[in-house]
Amino acid sequence: MKTAVFSTKAYDRSFLDAANREQGHELVYFLPALDEETVPLAADFPAVCVFVNDRITAPVVEALAAGGTKLIALRCAGFNQVDLDAAEGAGLTVVRVPAYSPYAVAEHVIALLQAVNRRIHRAYNRVREGNFSLDGLLGFDLHGKTFGIVGTGKIGAVLARIAHGFGCRVLAHDVREDPKVAALGTTYTDLESLFAESDIVSLHCPLLPQTKHLVNQESLGRMKPGATLINTSRGGLVDTSAVIEALKSGRLAGLGLDVYEEEADLFFEDLSATIIKDDVFMRLTTFPNVVITGHQAYFTREALENIAATTIANITAFAEGRKPENAVFPAAVRPGN
Ligand code: NAD
Repeated sequence: MKTAVFSTKAYDRSFLDAANREQGHELVYFLPALDEETVPLAADFPAVCVFVNDRITAPVVEALAAGGTKLIALRCAGFNQVDLDAAEGAGLTVVRVPAYSPYAVAEHVIALLQAVNRRIHRAYNRVREGNFSLDGLLGFDLHGKTFGIVGTGKIGAVLARIAHGFGCRVLAHDVREDPKVAALGTTYTDLESLFAESDIVSLHCPLLPQTKHLVNQESLGRMKPGATLINTSRGGLVDTSAVIEALKSGRLAGLGLDVYEEEADLFFEDLSATIIKDDVFMRLTTFPNVVITGHQAYFTREALENIAATTIANITAFAEGRKPENAVFPAAVRPGN
């Protein structure tokens, strides 16, 4: 199937080409993200393939439909970048990669947490300069701490197992409790108690209208003083300005981010020779107790192989007229889901 692949990096191309070798879809690679400006590139392509920061708004959907596109294949798990109502209304099928490696993301949570906690980023720079002082590098044992996990789907469930391995008390909050996660010794609780009791809070629920700014001035005020917050899910779960205030007041003792609400203008590009105009983001980078990675939690060899294999299988299923197993419908973003 002729597919316009947007937001393409060299690594996307090599993994997709390898997965496509047997299937022979005609993949045409475009560097820019799909949005209202670039949508003309998709004209006459029955399928488009997009990633996390493409913007498939209602006007983009309309233009895709007018150009003959029938399939939007997301090569990611999250689908908050697509107007699903508009897609359904225009008769476009949306498919995604629901699971590719929950381990990649859950393990990155620990990388961020321990970098923040043990100040690895500062220690790395000091040692390179011959500074072996330990002042300012004091961390805490994870053993015995309370680890709060918001959303115990595929990633949250793996993280719960890892957190138990460290000897943490694990609290969880989810709209659907998972008995397998509870059987590990995890205690499900309401969000308020999780925030109040956790030394570490890690976010793993999707970005939905009802989860936007789940971490805000009010919920930060209810958090245990000195807690560490980790967000590898979606930037919009966190009100960044409120988090900056909480870092300034010391209510939050550490922050690890792999996602940022306005990341579409920053992440996945080398902007090192440009002036970054996002003052909120730049303020975050000034804190010694904040570590930010640019949406790389998923970025392991295993995850890229699985993303490419499922994306190609999704396109093949659609091309052969089979019921798309990984389709996403507007009901997925309605309250109660
Ligand atoms: P999943 O669908 O398996 O799990 C999400 C969980 O969140 C489900 O158990 C669901 O019931 C729960 N949930 C939904 N609404 C909730 C609410 N209001 N409060 C609490 N819990 C709620 O998804 P997953 O594969 O575990 O991924 C989680 C998120 O991680 C994705 O939505 C995606 O945004 C993000 N993600 C980030 C990266 C990265 O590289 N940083 C990679 C993959 C996924």
